[in-house]
Amino acid sequence: MIIFKSINKLNKEVDFKANIGFVPTMGSLHNGHISLIKSSKTNCKKTLVSIFINPSQFNKKSDLKNYPRNLKKDMMILKKLKVDYLLIPNTKEIYKNNNNKKIKLNKKDKIMCSLYRPGHFEGVLAVINQFLKKIKPTFIFLGEKDYQQLFLIKKFINKNFKVNVFACKTIRDKNKVALSSRNNLLNKYDLKKSSYIAALLLNLRNKLKNNISNKYKIKYISKKINNIKNIKVEYLEIRNKKNLSKNYNKNNFKIFLAYYNKNIRLIDNY
Ligand code: AMP
Repeated sequence: MIIFKSINKLNKEVDFKANIGFVPTMGSLHNGHISLIKSSKTNCKKTLVSIFINPSQFNKKSDLKNYPRNLKKDMMILKKLKVDYLLIPNTKEIYKNNNNKKIKLNKKDKIMCSLYRPGHFEGVLAVINQFLKKIKPTFIFLGEKDYQQLFLIKKFINKNFKVNVFACKTIRDKNKVALSSRNNLLNKYDLKKSSYIAALLLNLRNKLKNNISNKYKIKYISKKINNIKNIKVEYLEIRNKKNLSKNYNKNNFKIFLAYYNKNIRLIDNY
């Protein structure tokens, strides 16, 4: 595995004419990231993984400070997976120009996480923009776990770059909790609550699949989740998975949840 600490150097030394798969991450790698990497390895000639905790997508300083960091362990995982290239860029190089820190969102995209985390996706799109100006992969691999992020990046890339977006299914632990680097900040007891919440969502999804008029149950489920000790629902919504509108039917809906488990913000979708 070749490690690059500079995106300019990577740009000069890697031949992007080869079929290259790009897996951007913020590190603290888990099986969710690993499934993206494996998809890239199956579908591309070479795989490039980046680890960059992007400051411009954090709307709270404390969240950025507490974000889990495990670079040594991550490098061991990536070496074992025989990843070809690892990029660990620094913030100064990515954001030489202050104007590059945000990409504006359309008004109609200000729903769910973009409403509750102002500036978050603006920062996510900014880093993707900076990466893709220098890196010319054939595919970029993204997870459905962050479904709204996937939706916005796909739209942004289709408009601005010639890169194919490859969406990977959400990987869950055996208790149905969607894997997330932030789960490292929770103890066993907290994770049990997240497991119960995931089961409630799955159950709601099955009910909606049988009969979409069960959608009124969403308020009841939201209350039920909120009543769990130290859990606070930020939003629980049903939307059309193709365009994220509220115009959905039993064949195209998705349930979206954001909640706090103690002080840790988690998202999930089913
Ligand atoms: P992150 O390191 O959290 O920024 O995530 C990097 C990539 O991994 C994003 O495309 C995420 O959607 C994806 N990802 C994170 N967790 C999972 C998961 N549990 N299953 C599948 N993909 C995931």
